Amino acid sequence: MAQHTITLIPGDGVGPELSEAARRVIDATGVDIKWEVVDAGLGVMEEYGDPLPAHVLDSIRRNKVAIKGPLTTPVGKGIRSVNVALRRELDLYALVRPTKSYPGVRSRYENVDLVIVRENTEDLYAGIEFAQPATLELIADIERLGGRAIRADSGITIKPISVFGTQRVFRFAFKWAIDNGRHKVTAVHKANIMKYTDGLWLRVAQEVSREFPQIEFEDRIVDNMCMQLVQKPELYDVMVMPNLYGDILSDLCAGLTGGLGLAPGANTGDEIAVFEATHGSAPKYTGLNKANPMAMMLSGVLMLRHIGEGAAGDRLEKAIARVIADGRSVTYDMKPERDDPTAVGTSQVADAVIEVLAAS
Ligand code: NAD
Repeated sequence: MAQHTITLIPGDGVGPELSEAARRVIDATGVDIKWEVVDAGLGVMEEYGDPLPAHVLDSIRRNKVAIKGPLTTPVGKGIRSVNVALRRELDLYALVRPTKSYPGVRSRYENVDLVIVRENTEDLYAGIEFAQPATLELIADIERLGGRAIRADSGITIKPISVFGTQRVFRFAFKWAIDNGRHKVTAVHKANIMKYTDGLWLRVAQEVSREFPQIEFEDRIVDNMCMQLVQKPELYDVMVMPNLYGDILSDLCAGLTGGLGLAPGANTGDEIAVFEATHGSAPKYTGLNKANPMAMMLSGVLMLRHIGEGAAGDRLEKAIARVIADGRSVTYDMKPERDDPTAVGTSQVADAVIEVLAAS
């Protein structure tokens, strides 16, 4: 059996505990993985002066596959998100976030099986921002170019959406749909209002859809999409959206099926993929052995499939589903009451998954 070398970034906050739990269950599938553990985030700022040191990026570039815990972005202190930087540096342009109902999860919905493909490099998340009051020159230029008047005391964030970026994320999504037995792609946008960005997105999506006639294609305006997802999520399959809508709707979809503790993700480029949960570093639970490791474990399932170990991925997903259905070894967030004394900790969830794997 081939050995895989994979970069592991433990992360900030609850990240190290979740990473340890995920690593243990992935190892218990029997897949031969050599973990290259490298630190990024707040913890290395002092040592390297950079939350994303070069050797971390080098490790991912070398191994082509990484799994990471969440990384903290301090609010409003001028530090840009390490997560956004990582996606940009490695050109991980498609973020795949599946949402699935597992029997035993408390939810108003059953049989949800959705996938968001979020464009990961452009849109309002491209990081092109101009702070007030240094925006006066830009405001004057925009007015000169025929744009509308902008109040002089405005801050400005630019929303670029390119033909290139839109084409490649839709091609990725259609291919992903075919490879994963999906039948429909929905393009999500606000083309009626933002004609030159979301309008371009929709036009390119329609063009790309003609290259994949075997997959049904439709589009939805993002506000309508939100209502539709809450009312009838079973109508949707793979949804492709620009960065900001993808960020927001990922949490909405997670909420349909048990919350952030169960929402995995895969940041994917042409050659490199970095797997991570949708949730953040949940700082208030750091070191308490309390956070739910299942989102990171399910990210591990996506990773195993990505490296050609699909059978091991399926076994791990089934084992997690068994632990959920059994209901005894789950964390506080999966209990009817948040202070349920029968909730177990992060590492006990890993123990339970490993026990099921060993018996399967
Ligand atoms: P968060 O996802 O960390 O927390 C939101 C809520 O969900 C909190 O109540 C938290 O306790 C709970 N929660 C999150 N993960 C959980 C888990 N595994 N089990 C149980 N409960 C869980 O979001 P936030 O508080 O907005 O962000 C905290 C930090 O994480 C910020 O610095 C943010 O920038 C960062 N963040 C990182 C990533 C990433 O690494 N990709 C993603 C989102 C947020």
